[in-house]
Amino acid sequence: MTASLNLAQQDAVNHLRGPCLVLAGAGSGKTRVITHKIARLIQTGVEGKRIAAITFTNKAAAEMRERARALVGKAAGDVLICTFHALGVRLLREDGAVLGLKAQFSILDSDDVLGLIKDCGATTDAATARQWQWAISRWKNAGLDAAAAQAQATSEGERQTALLMARYQERLAAYQSVDFDDLIGLPLRMLQNHEHISQKWRARLAHVLVDEYQDTNATQYELMKLLVGAQGSFTAVGDDDQSIYGWRGATLDNLKRLPLDYPKLKIIKLEQNYRSTSAILRAANNVIGPNPKLFPKTLYSELGEGEPVRVVDSDHEAHEAERAVARIQSLRQTSPHKEWRDFALLYRANHQARVFEQALRRAQIPYKVSGGQSFFDRAEIKDLCAWLRLWINEDDDPAFLRAVTTPKRGIGHQTLGALGEFAARYKLSLFGALFSHSLGAALPARAVGSLHEFGRDLNDQRHRAQHTVGHEAARTFLTDWLKAIGYEKHLYDSSDSEGQAAARWTNVLEFCDWMAGRCGGQIDDAAGVTTSTERKTLLEVAQTISLISTLNEREQDPNVVTLSTLHAAKGLEWPHVVLAGVIEGMLPFRPDEDADAAVQAARIEEERRLMYVGITRAQRTLAVSWTRRRKKGREIVAAQPSRFIAEMALDRSTTREDPREKLKALRAEFARRAAPMAAGDGPSTIEK
Ligand code: ATP
Ligand code: MG
Repeated sequence: MTASLNLAQQDAVNHLRGPCLVLAGAGSGKTRVITHKIARLIQTGVEGKRIAAITFTNKAAAEMRERARALVGKAAGDVLICTFHALGVRLLREDGAVLGLKAQFSILDSDDVLGLIKDCGATTDAATARQWQWAISRWKNAGLDAAAAQAQATSEGERQTALLMARYQERLAAYQSVDFDDLIGLPLRMLQNHEHISQKWRARLAHVLVDEYQDTNATQYELMKLLVGAQGSFTAVGDDDQSIYGWRGATLDNLKRLPLDYPKLKIIKLEQNYRSTSAILRAANNVIGPNPKLFPKTLYSELGEGEPVRVVDSDHEAHEAERAVARIQSLRQTSPHKEWRDFALLYRANHQARVFEQALRRAQIPYKVSGGQSFFDRAEIKDLCAWLRLWINEDDDPAFLRAVTTPKRGIGHQTLGALGEFAARYKLSLFGALFSHSLGAALPARAVGSLHEFGRDLNDQRHRAQHTVGHEAARTFLTDWLKAIGYEKHLYDSSDSEGQAAARWTNVLEFCDWMAGRCGGQIDDAAGVTTSTERKTLLEVAQTISLISTLNEREQDPNVVTLSTLHAAKGLEWPHVVLAGVIEGMLPFRPDEDADAAVQAARIEEERRLMYVGITRAQRTLAVSWTRRRKKGREIVAAQPSRFIAEMALDRSTTREDPREKLKALRAEFARRAAPMAAGDGPSTIEK
């Protein structure tokens, strides 16, 4: 099994006891080390359930599970392979009672949190609320609770935000709900304050493996430390050049602290890149070159020089999208074996996806958008999930408010406002308040009647969902349920056009179909093959879905082109990659002119790492594209190619050339090309 590993990788895989850090550049097989180490641990007799492997996304977890299964078969099924957040869910569901959380707590997504923060701060202004949300999140990620945030506040504004945080936390507790950051912070507090629980988990886990270690934040590191104990039986793998979540609290300090906190730490470096051609790797090394080095690293590839990296220029975004799609089509045609899944289009920000989606649709090329709006983020799916969440946790107030008003059932804001006040006075959840005897004194009888009806419907649904097993019964139930709540009519009443309503209704049906499929039983697929899967109740399925919908897990990759933000592309690879929108102001992102020089320099470093991550996703070919004009608000303004494009082409190995001169010349060349020109003009690496 270790035959497919180089010596340094084998070293890492065979270091079974004690702390181990694999520090290496992109595509050098760090993730492969983790997968093989899981297999190795199992082969040496460690039970799968005593191994935890932590990945950055749910998708990466699913992929790792597949690979581990391919290596050691069924035993890999017991390994806890998940994100830090999902691990947090596991810890809290099992032991969260000591924090006053019931096992069926709810997880609020970012929109729910924003709504709640607006409520707590008595504002309707989304921008202000978002700022508060960010501040609270940063505090939580730094391990501060409201009191600690209050204590270290340096301005009146911060003090007010800390007060708001305290109110927000109270509400979360009352709702039996947690936010994303709590999924790390609360388990950490639980392990810190309850020695018997941390002992239990330490005894249970024989080895913890962490992928993308450079992007862990302070609380995640503390959590890891508590889980692995002082001796530290863990393997962390990472690359300081790929740290791109600084804005979310990730800190390279975690890398620096590791050798100090674990003096016995074995550090292993990997130097061979198995992913990309030399041309691609050189471009990547050139871009990351100017960043200060935390650890010196070298990276080489034996896959040959390969195609030169292409730089593609276009007039504007739609033009850029057309050219990118044309490139995909022509690459696919030149080799009949290329699959759609071999291509990825990467960009900085979610909103850039739209023009590419349109161009791909026009060309009838199948695609998926990852890292952007997922299926589960669509309003109609979130509506339905609100009901599912209530089946699971009736105290989930944000879900209650969404379900009771979507579709409308004649329960208005006044009624809900009064119910809210009543609930707050008696420290009850909204659902808890619903059947309270004294509610009649606070609300007119008709309103109480409507609320009771809603509550009874919900109880009835939950009861039926609990006894609905297998996909056929589930499908019948779901069809009846949609009819009963009048969801289709609601969509037609609330959408902008019939077309939009129809598209949303299709999503709803697709969702229900998928959910029913998960209830198992005998399933006939389109090809007439019958498979039998484990039968589950609809309520069990709803429970996993309400978690998935917030943690955003995906099904296995179908054969489609990937559209993804650079952040969401981390750790992944594709034979052919187009990096789009590589212009100044986008990548690097427009500088914050108010920030001081040191902050600005640090930002550029992170942007550089982001570009490095983008380039190193490509295996065989890479095109980097930029536009001469771009939208800025409602205006169209002139755009410049990113400085990274010029740097990419620099050859730092030849001393004859002064890099600054070359950079200047390249800039001038790009500026010249920014003017209209004749076909066939320009250096050979610029595609026409
Ligand atoms: P990133 O920094 O982008 O996360 P990584 O260091 O985790 O990259 P992997 O994704 O593990 O790298 O590996 C990159 C590619 O190289 C994968 O396709 C992997 O299968 C392949 N690879 C890694 N090690 C070897 C090896 N020893 N022999 C052959 N192929 C390898
Ligand atoms: Mg990796």
